[in-house]
Amino acid sequence: MPGVEEIKNNLISKLRYSLCLDLKDATHADIFNALALTIRDFQLDSFFATKHYQKEAKSKRLYYLSMEFLLGQSLRNNLMNLGLYPAAHQALNELGFDFEDITAEEPDAALGNGGLGRLAACFIDSMATLDIAASGHGIKYEYGLFKQSIQHGRQVEQPDDWHSTHSPWLIDHHSQLMLIPIGGHIEESEDIDGNYNPMWMDWRVIVGVPHDYFVTGYGGKTVNKLRLYSAAASDSFDVHIFNRGDYLRAVSQKIASENISKILYPADEIQSGKELRLTQEYFLVACTLRDIFQEFTDKSDDITALPDAVAIQLNDTHPALAIVEMMRILVDEHRLDWDAAWDITQKTCAFTNHTLMPEALETWPVTLFEKLLPRHLQIIYEINHRFLADVAEKWPDRPELLASLSLFEERGEKKIRMAHLAIVGSHKVNGVAKLHSELIKQDLVPNFYFISPEKFTNQTNGVTPRRWIQQANTQLATFLTRQLGAGWVTDLDKLQRLKKLANDSGVVEEIQSIKLHNKQALCRLIASRQGIKVDPLAMFDSQVKRIHEYKRQLLNVLHVIHLYLGIVESGNTLIQPKVHLFSGKAAPGYAMAKLIIQLINEVARTVNNDPRTKGQLSVLFLEDYKVSLAEHIIPATDLSEQISTAGTEASGTSNMKFSMNGALTIGTMDGANIEIRDAVGAENFYLFGATAAEINTHRATGSHNQIYHSNPVIRETVDALVSGRFNLDKSLFQPIYRMLTEGDHYCHLLDFDSYRLAQHQVLTDFSQPQQWHQKALLNIAGMGSFSSDRTIKGYASEIWGITC
Ligand SMILES: *Cc1c(COP(=O)(O)O)cnc(C)c1O
Repeated sequence: MPGVEEIKNNLISKLRYSLCLDLKDATHADIFNALALTIRDFQLDSFFATKHYQKEAKSKRLYYLSMEFLLGQSLRNNLMNLGLYPAAHQALNELGFDFEDITAEEPDAALGNGGLGRLAACFIDSMATLDIAASGHGIKYEYGLFKQSIQHGRQVEQPDDWHSTHSPWLIDHHSQLMLIPIGGHIEESEDIDGNYNPMWMDWRVIVGVPHDYFVTGYGGKTVNKLRLYSAAASDSFDVHIFNRGDYLRAVSQKIASENISKILYPADEIQSGKELRLTQEYFLVACTLRDIFQEFTDKSDDITALPDAVAIQLNDTHPALAIVEMMRILVDEHRLDWDAAWDITQKTCAFTNHTLMPEALETWPVTLFEKLLPRHLQIIYEINHRFLADVAEKWPDRPELLASLSLFEERGEKKIRMAHLAIVGSHKVNGVAKLHSELIKQDLVPNFYFISPEKFTNQTNGVTPRRWIQQANTQLATFLTRQLGAGWVTDLDKLQRLKKLANDSGVVEEIQSIKLHNKQALCRLIASRQGIKVDPLAMFDSQVKRIHEYKRQLLNVLHVIHLYLGIVESGNTLIQPKVHLFSGKAAPGYAMAKLIIQLINEVARTVNNDPRTKGQLSVLFLEDYKVSLAEHIIPATDLSEQISTAGTEASGTSNMKFSMNGALTIGTMDGANIEIRDAVGAENFYLFGATAAEINTHRATGSHNQIYHSNPVIRETVDALVSGRFNLDKSLFQPIYRMLTEGDHYCHLLDFDSYRLAQHQVLTDFSQPQQWHQKALLNIAGMGSFSSDRTIKGYASEIWGITC
């Protein structure tokens, strides 16, 4: 294990020989880069050792394919997992730098939108920690998720330059270029034996360049990699246009190729349908499968043994083309017969579904597909043909099954249903929380469940305690280690032992003072970023996540309006002072979500500038939500808002992060909230709202749109939106008003009263600090099973056939 001197010497040497800088001239950013390069060398030593032992052990390999990896910062996480945190801290101090100043220089790697991408990041941490031979595969976007600023109350998007070209964590492998064909057409032909042998002709080539980011498991034994591909143009291809003298066309082709990895699509839970997006998905899949086949054929020449050596996990349908690309490689390149190829593919692939909402389900027009991937389209037709023939044979009396199961949507423009492709090509299909997995079977694809019930399973999401407790909440981590020993970091079930301390008032007071410490730190951050002073003794109520109608930030802000009207119109006083924190980004094209951001900001301005609310109520919208900001907000929160319309949030993961950091939840019967409530105890969770089944009934009858007329408290609150109180332009929030009163799919007003009562109970309870923090302790104590280590063990044993 390297000591302080070694880190110092290596850092100075990196400054000098890799960055060409003298210590005395180095900025904080330079020191960050030099320290990161120093740490990466230690990771690399373990990486080679890992490669060696995984090869000796002939470990089955897991490939995790995801269009998003929301990594955030890496320095502190790597230092902790390698066990170098104290030494690096001291090394920086001895060189005259403050550790916090240096770590704050690291830009977040925001290669994801929200929960789905952050899940992938937690999973690669857990796979390395559990010593699984695994790699993540994604795209090295030049621009990650946009940076958000708020100007005049509105979201403004700016490009996110996360220094992708010179990140100290990435190693480029320009010697391992991959050639990916795209476009062209099919010529029907036969091989010498007279077998059908279609030829994919006149494609152009995209070049894939792999970049490796190293993932250190806790304890530093296993270092796996996350491989991110960037796209480049092929020189040889350009030459042929160059030779025709068409210089400008050659250059524009080159730019078109490079554009493939230029930018992350910022629409979360909404499908974009853009050609470039389909190209990105194919690009990821094609590069990854070249790596998989290369690594496998290096070890074995029996391709039929592939499923014994390899497992592929598809994070949502975005990489579902892996199924088709695998068939193409096996049939066209390895010359396997169809049935053998299909058997290998199905046994290797597994699919995680992340959504129940129709607007998020991926489909692609056949015409677009044919233009980009003519051979893949042929293969999908063949898969569908054989699949439907099989269904027709097994259920001859159920002809209606065929249209509902088909990989093609025939109504309107003909489209490929990516979820159907993913289900048919996989041996397992999982949801991400118990409720979600049930709804997949009952509502989303009931006919698939009918024909293949054995495929469907659940793996409830989890989050890594290394980042979300140990790194984000160092005081809580120290407390846990003192109470439980250091083992909790990799065995989070140990948290259960805290239960017996719940009646120890000294322990409960300690939980309270840890929370206060974190709140004070957040207050400093808020003061420095937004210039607003907030009282750390107030209750901190946070809703931080993507802005989406289904997540119902609008319900939260309506309740804030209700409290505000109570103070200014009825002269009420809140039992306890409250700070409402909001943070999150809206997809740039999602008008309603952007209007909700504007409403929150206008309400915040009005409430905060009104002297009558002083010392009682304040509202803050924190700009540019991202992982590093989440790490500050979550440990400082008293109340976690998890208030999605029941049946819409597949799992949620911020609900887990909050609860394991001692926030109490106000939440609906949705996603993993249900399991969290069971785990921490119903008396330590504020449940409200309609169940998924009730929501369905209300939607069917339209009754939720009548509530405005029958409930005066609700009417007063909703009318305030168009009263000019929050913006002189009374028509500004009219679209929200109309949505709530006329056609609200997310049933905000239906749950309003129940939410208001639960909020009232929260405030009453918060005025009893001893009881409140006892509940907080019991939340922490109950959260052991929401470690992503538990989730990954479930995938490994039930889906991948990997023991750990
Ligand atoms: C955990 C996390 C999310 C997911 O939050 P949900 O409330 O589960 O949607 C999104 N963004 C960031 C930065 C996160 O850390």
